[in-house]
Amino acid sequence: MKFIYYFGDGQADGAVHQKDLLGGKGANLAEMTRLGIPVPPGFTLTTKVCTYYMNNGEFPSQLKNQLMKSLLRIEAAMDQQFDSASNPLLVSVRSGARKSMPGMMETVLNVGLTSKTLPGLIQQSGDERFVYDSYRRLITMYSDVVMEKTLGLKSKGGKGIREKLELILEDYKSTHNYTIDADLTAEDLKIISDRYKNCVKDILGQDFPDDATTQLWGAITAVFKSWNGKRAQAYRRIENIPNDWGTAVNVQTMVFGNMGNDSATGVAFTRNPATGENQFYGEWLINAQGEDVVAGIRTPNPLNQYSTTSESLNLPSLEKVNPKIYSVLDTVKTRLEVHYHDMQDLEFTIQKGRLWMLQTRTGKRNGAAAIRIAMDMMNEGLISEDEALLRISPENIDEIMHDTVDPNAEKSGLLLGTGLPAGPGGATGQIVFTAEDAEDWKKQGKRVILVRNETSPEDVHGMHVASGILTAKGGMTSHAALVARGWGKCCIVGCSVLTIDSKNKSLHINGTILNEGDWVTLNGSLGNIYKGELSLKKPDLEQNKYFNKLMIVADQKKELGIRTNADSPEDAMQGRKFGAEGIGLCRTEHMFFEPERISPMREMILANNQISRRKAVMKLLPFQRDDFYGILKAMAPHPVTIRLLDPPLHEFLPHTEEQIEKLSDEMDIQKSEIKSRITALQESNPMLGHRGCRLGIMYPEITEMQSRAIFEATAKLVKEGEFPLPEVMIPLVGSAPELENQKRVVNQLAKEVMQNEGINFEYLVGTMIELPRACITADKIAEHAQFFSFGTNDLTQTTFGFSRDDMGSFMPQYIDSQIIKNDPFQSIDQSGVGELVKLGVQKGRSSNSKLKIGICGEHGGDPESIAFFNNVGLDYVSCSPFRVPIARLAAAQATIKSNL
Ligand code: PEP
Ligand code: MG
Repeated sequence: MKFIYYFGDGQADGAVHQKDLLGGKGANLAEMTRLGIPVPPGFTLTTKVCTYYMNNGEFPSQLKNQLMKSLLRIEAAMDQQFDSASNPLLVSVRSGARKSMPGMMETVLNVGLTSKTLPGLIQQSGDERFVYDSYRRLITMYSDVVMEKTLGLKSKGGKGIREKLELILEDYKSTHNYTIDADLTAEDLKIISDRYKNCVKDILGQDFPDDATTQLWGAITAVFKSWNGKRAQAYRRIENIPNDWGTAVNVQTMVFGNMGNDSATGVAFTRNPATGENQFYGEWLINAQGEDVVAGIRTPNPLNQYSTTSESLNLPSLEKVNPKIYSVLDTVKTRLEVHYHDMQDLEFTIQKGRLWMLQTRTGKRNGAAAIRIAMDMMNEGLISEDEALLRISPENIDEIMHDTVDPNAEKSGLLLGTGLPAGPGGATGQIVFTAEDAEDWKKQGKRVILVRNETSPEDVHGMHVASGILTAKGGMTSHAALVARGWGKCCIVGCSVLTIDSKNKSLHINGTILNEGDWVTLNGSLGNIYKGELSLKKPDLEQNKYFNKLMIVADQKKELGIRTNADSPEDAMQGRKFGAEGIGLCRTEHMFFEPERISPMREMILANNQISRRKAVMKLLPFQRDDFYGILKAMAPHPVTIRLLDPPLHEFLPHTEEQIEKLSDEMDIQKSEIKSRITALQESNPMLGHRGCRLGIMYPEITEMQSRAIFEATAKLVKEGEFPLPEVMIPLVGSAPELENQKRVVNQLAKEVMQNEGINFEYLVGTMIELPRACITADKIAEHAQFFSFGTNDLTQTTFGFSRDDMGSFMPQYIDSQIIKNDPFQSIDQSGVGELVKLGVQKGRSSNSKLKIGICGEHGGDPESIAFFNNVGLDYVSCSPFRVPIARLAAAQATIKSNL
């Protein structure tokens, strides 16, 4: 079996479609090489090697031989030899999973430096200082990653080896009165390297290996093993990356950005990842190695004029310093974008004036940028409409619907300082200084802002729960910025006026001291940090032309109608603004809780004969008529599905002694009588008790009142020249006779109102399908229905037998132990509940070909469920107003995917 794939010198064994085998990084290095882009030669050990190693505790027997052969190919391409005394080749060893897991696994650089190869490299580079600097970096990385973390060698005296080595460096610098690393001479670094090696031997009890091949295998093993490291596992859980994917490992010729002032390293995006603007954007550092830009230790220089920020205003851009290389890089950028048809994230190194590309991958972007890039690329003809629609995830839309700081509050807010706007939007919360505290506080229901000097992959769990992230160091491509952008989180980095006193859990910023728990507000779009809790504002999507274009394209493509669930004219308007084509569910019970309505409602429930019940119920008529008038008007001429009263009646009854007393006064009846009626109404299983259509069947006056209110409101609107379209929906029907019974009442009322008002109006009568029996007998029910609306909340409840209200005690455990994959109340259980939906659709249409069918349970806003409903052939889905745009996109994507 082929375990190793070579790339270099314009030739590559692999290609971009082999990400599963080569990981994202390896596949893209191969692809860039094929495109003739200068990539340092190297090879990729496949993900199969990783899974083999995880399962067997050893590498496949053929691996060694394949590795030696691949090494020979690199040596030939570079005209250098690994482990050579005169002309040594050094390599980097890096992870590369199918899906990018930034910084979650290990890397070892400068592998191959030994007492044998050091002199050769000094001669080759002509720079002894650089060589010893690289050497001491290798010792640090190797002893930490390979010896301590992977071999599990225990460090004596508590602290880890990396920290001990850092101390040696700091000690050395202070005894020599040096302030920065650049003050260290070659001789100093030589001494420090010796001290490092002694320290490793002393602390870990083993020599730092002075053999290039041992180093290479040590590094490869360590990187493979880091797939199962703590932080990689945590990240996989959050990002839903399967454990059995494994990582690939890339072994690649080292090129050095720290070989003097004609060397540099940088990170760039082919378009601005924060806004999506079609401008080359990036950062670079002169005379720096590898991760220096991403680690955020130095403020990076801007790549070009466009990339300049307030922090890098006076720093030289690559465009100015070296226009020739910049122009080569710019050509590579265009070549890559045209080839990949997507925004790319690039890493490059300039070694002694020569440009090398180290990485290209799909650039992470926030929601706003994702939408703009897709729409722009569609207009530029780089991608088709379908591709553009598939590029944008429902989360991207969710993100741009996120809050921003209210501009009015911002004007009066106390500005503490500014940093780089790494993740847009607004966030407010209480400050905490560690990822652990962020998690703890969040668990207590608090909103937190995680404040760090810089973030590292160890912080991801805290970053994930934080409302916003603020760091003192780092640039727009620092770890914090990348991770936050990926999650669409508000984030400010590189706030250089911020210092953190982690011991006292406080921060200083421009003369202000804030302690843990104090409130701050971040404007991640501008990089502004404010004291206190400022109000946040919902975004104005109407102003976003890219979003609007996206919605137009999505609507042209989608087949499903999108409605909204709304119980008030305000919600109806909101849903309509977001593109809802009607109301799929108006729950009338929410209308009965206002103070002037609850009393007649209670009076009705407590009535013990029909006459007094009818009297009480009629008091509710004017309120209901007004409700329906407002909602029907807000949505006209689109349809409004109004569900008749559904919940068990005792939900409306008084619970406290005080409420009972008040009611007894108002109704002038004994408290004891109220109490005995409450007791009589108690049910052991209210969800399966006297609710849904059973209410209207037992108390037809409720159905009569609600129908009258609906139709009188309709008549009034028709007279006013509107085109209202009410759809009366009977809840929780399990058999055709139930629907027949209620339909008779509704039709009778419609007739009466039409006669009284002297006009005709359109209306429909239909039912919810939310019981398994309703699905099974859907053909019979459909004979009496003009529409079905699947109530998948109750249908899930009654199919699984999981109580909607009580499943919290076991569902998390069920999901954790994979008894169930997802919460079935969030994403439809396709193989169980979904089969019943299919059956209901098929049987319903078999007896009534004109039957209109929708779904109004929570699943109507879940993209995966929407795809399912699309494929089952529903006419529409209905969801909360803020999920309508997501549903529009998800419906379009479902159509495209079903035609693929
Ligand atoms: C349902 O059961 O899916 C539904 C929409 O009704 P409710 O959630 O109000 O029971
Ligand atoms: Mg229901």
